[in-house]
Amino acid sequence: MKTQLSPSLLALALAFAACPGIQAQQAKEYPKPEAMRPGMSEYWTPQPKVVTPGDIKTNTAPSDAIVLFDGKDLSAWMQPDGKDAAWTVKNGVMTVDKSKGDILTRQKFGSCQLHIEWCVPKDIEGESQARGNSGVFLQDTYEVQILDCYGNETYVNGMTGSIYKQTPPLVNAMRKPGEWNVYDIIYTAPVFKEDGTYLYRPFVTVIQNGILLQNHTEILGTTEYIGFPRTVRHGDGPIRLQSHGDPSKPISFRNIWIRPL
Ligand code: MG
Repeated sequence: MKTQLSPSLLALALAFAACPGIQAQQAKEYPKPEAMRPGMSEYWTPQPKVVTPGDIKTNTAPSDAIVLFDGKDLSAWMQPDGKDAAWTVKNGVMTVDKSKGDILTRQKFGSCQLHIEWCVPKDIEGESQARGNSGVFLQDTYEVQILDCYGNETYVNGMTGSIYKQTPPLVNAMRKPGEWNVYDIIYTAPVFKEDGTYLYRPFVTVIQNGILLQNHTEILGTTEYIGFPRTVRHGDGPIRLQSHGDPSKPISFRNIWIRPL
């Protein structure tokens, strides 16, 4: 059956056919995108550096880590006044000497992966913050709390694995006094503006005994005992281990290593 165009549609069709620009645009063909192949979204270089993992049985560090304590001596550590660290080292373990105060690494660090093992004495006594209190200070500024929180309650933003006086841990993953706890800390250092305020605040992930306590937590500023976080401009800084003034028995550390990031 023949289709009859109305006079007006016929006129429109004739006008369209008479327009060379439109005809040319329709006729021209452009290259089509190449069909995706698997290799088009794969790249091979640079290959990541090979790192040999530590031996779990012998508590050795990964091959590219800086060993901060391997059970032999405190040569990587100093007192705040720069003198040699004088905590007790015995049987591959270092123990806080509360008469000597905090110790700091001689080397300074920024962003890092830090592995540190710590043990509360089996016969620990005391309660709340006065029970195996210590701490790891990142860049000598931000404290990840160490405390015996096995059956010991305290303010939650001051318990084990808290960013002290800021963010509580997600869970309580403590082992009993006398058993070794393991911290694996991944820390991203802050970036400061020229005026000394944060462009990017620091972030930290804390894993205790294989259990996540802090998940890429933003650190708000300094971890103050009294008062709220402050912004204090700093560069790379040492790792500081706290000798807390509480009267409970001192805790011990072993197998400490760090991988600057
Ligand atoms: Mg502390």
